[in-house]
Amino acid sequence: MTAFGIDLGTTQSCVAMIDEAGRPVIVKSAIGEDTTPSVVYFESPRNVVVGRAAKNSALLDPDLVAQLVKRDMGKDVVLSFHGQRHSPETVSALILRELTRAAREQTGQDVRDVVITVPAYFGVAEREATRRAGQIAELNVLDVVAEPVAAALSYQAVSGGGSVRHLLVYDLGGGTFDTTVIRLEGDDISVICTDGVHRLGGADWDQAIADYMLSQFMAQHPGLDPRGDAWFMQDLLISAEQLKKELSVTQARRHNLRFGGAVARIELDRARIEELTADLLEQTITVTQRAIATARRSGVAGFDDVLLVGGMTRMPAVARILKERLNLDARQHDPDLAVAKGAALFALMQTVRRPGGLSAAAAEDLAARTGMTVPEVETMAARRVTTVIPRAFGVKTIDGADPVALTDPVNARQLVVHLLQANTPLPADTGPYTFHTAIENQRMIGIEVWEQAGAVASESVEENRRVGEGRLRDLPPRLPARTPLEVTFFMSETGVLSVHAVEPRSGRDVRFDLQIGGLDQAGLEKARVSVARYDVSG
Ligand code: ADP
Ligand code: MG
Repeated sequence: MTAFGIDLGTTQSCVAMIDEAGRPVIVKSAIGEDTTPSVVYFESPRNVVVGRAAKNSALLDPDLVAQLVKRDMGKDVVLSFHGQRHSPETVSALILRELTRAAREQTGQDVRDVVITVPAYFGVAEREATRRAGQIAELNVLDVVAEPVAAALSYQAVSGGGSVRHLLVYDLGGGTFDTTVIRLEGDDISVICTDGVHRLGGADWDQAIADYMLSQFMAQHPGLDPRGDAWFMQDLLISAEQLKKELSVTQARRHNLRFGGAVARIELDRARIEELTADLLEQTITVTQRAIATARRSGVAGFDDVLLVGGMTRMPAVARILKERLNLDARQHDPDLAVAKGAALFALMQTVRRPGGLSAAAAEDLAARTGMTVPEVETMAARRVTTVIPRAFGVKTIDGADPVALTDPVNARQLVVHLLQANTPLPADTGPYTFHTAIENQRMIGIEVWEQAGAVASESVEENRRVGEGRLRDLPPRLPARTPLEVTFFMSETGVLSVHAVEPRSGRDVRFDLQIGGLDQAGLEKARVSVARYDVSG
């Protein structure tokens, strides 16, 4: 069965597969487009519309439309449509249902095995939420892969293997931004470091332009205030995005804004847009500089190529400022489609890489189906992709330096001890870390895992986010208070966190996978049922 690659974007999603010639190709949407807007319109309690038509409905029925949910992936956000509760995961599952439904229609193939892409800086909770969105949509998620890694795979597929090269991938999309430094060596790909901003993307440019247009309207018609009109405001945002795109290719545009019988004529040119959004672009430079500095500490002195991906990199200002400020010669690499194509390549690698290795029969079978030669399939199976932990994470503990800790541990100051630092290569092993029981005869110890939330790591609890917890049960009876326990965290290549704990005196040990995020098996089943109830169309 063919595996598909899915770029589940903040504003645009895209599906790709490997064709008979072994090349990644885009699978078109239901209406024949390369990408599908990641917008869901809850038309009725039983029907949802996903994509272009849903985006247009945002104008008429803004309260029934969900968009930009990727920005809230992994967070406890509740949305409600027709009295039905939704989460970023269930909305994403509905988008995935439409993407796979259309792909099934286009290819005539069953679409079940998929690889879904995630921004490189997505932490464990967001990655898990993405996997769950796939499961809720009844898909078999082979893996999630970082978007810049996918972009690098598709770059490598066209530029070929060879000697060691370093890439900087600058991805500015609709809602998110990240910069990643990648090392290519032969067929292998490894991430050196990654950095990004959760909420920075085209939508912020649109908002800045819309704010400006609104202020122009109100200056021309001081008696009128259209801000309370949801239709007007939505239309304004759509026009702002349209003007932004047009001004990537032309220098100036006019636009008429109508409200309450009045018309305001707005003149916009490229220079004005760049001025209005200069601070936004500047944030991408700060992050890119930080990533370059981190890479330099890992011995990366320069870049053989700087790839621009994400629709926003079509703005001429992006390449220009990277040259002006950082002396980087950046070029676009298939900005809308590279990520999905790379995901399809990664999906193929995952199918080849069966546990226990590739049998000769499987290699021949795959070769026959993809048009590759058997040695090519074997090379594919041997390829390695190494990524890093995007953000530091560790456990919340009592601050031993606080005198209260000795007498009243419950009320002592707490802090987060990071066991793994950002940009540690995966798989990663923290080595044993010593915890202590708090009271006598303690039979259970709870472990809370927290992840760095700010741009840089900090031990203060407020600058971290709780991502999951685990319990170490069945400790031997009658342990005195402050018995040491050695706890080791292990994060797999795919970012799954597991914990191993030993009580050194008895040698008793416990292993468990950490429960990340909110949904357990029962919650997953419930979400699946509620998403399956909808009729989904494009
Ligand atoms: P994501 O992966 O986050 O969904 P994309 O990479 O698809 O995002 O980029 C979408 C963003 O790119 C939108 O904000 C869109 O307005 C913007 N965009 C697309 N084409 C252009 C263009 N020609 N000029 C400027 N911005 C563009
Ligand atoms: Mg994207």
